[in-house]
Amino acid sequence: MTVLEEVKYRLEGYCCKCGDCCRFLYCVEPLTELGFKFMKLIYPKYRRFKIIGKDKNGIILACKLIREDGLCPDYENRPDICRDYPNPKKIYAGGRLYKRCTYKLLPGRTFEDFLLNEEEGQEQSTDK
Ligand code: SF4
Ligand code: SF4
Repeated sequence: MTVLEEVKYRLEGYCCKCGDCCRFLYCVEPLTELGFKFMKLIYPKYRRFKIIGKDKNGIILACKLIREDGLCPDYENRPDICRDYPNPKKIYAGGRLYKRCTYKLLPGRTFEDFLLNEEEGQEQSTDK
């Protein structure tokens, strides 16, 4: 029987300060403009975002604070939604990194590592 292995991703790279993750953010919860208004009442930090669009995945936000040079003027107090990027877990939810993002999400084990482990396992079972 073949057992599928869960692929774990690791993060590599650095931030080139393109600012794309601040200018285009998906907000999947709440899904509506009204819900986002309530969210801003409960979490005032989210007032820095404005809605710039909406599609089947949720509402799309842009941060009003991002500077021209791609730096955050409120980095120490940035909300969780900012701290969470780039999060390897997002790839499981269909998330992708931005095109200009200089981080990379790489599989924890390469295909070659996986094959090597398989071969070693088969050798051990034939030695018995
Ligand atoms: S608060 Fe800072 S880190 Fe968060 S989206 Fe705005 S500029 Fe980017
Ligand atoms: S998209 Fe990536 S490289 Fe660009 S500012 Fe965000 S974290 Fe940095």
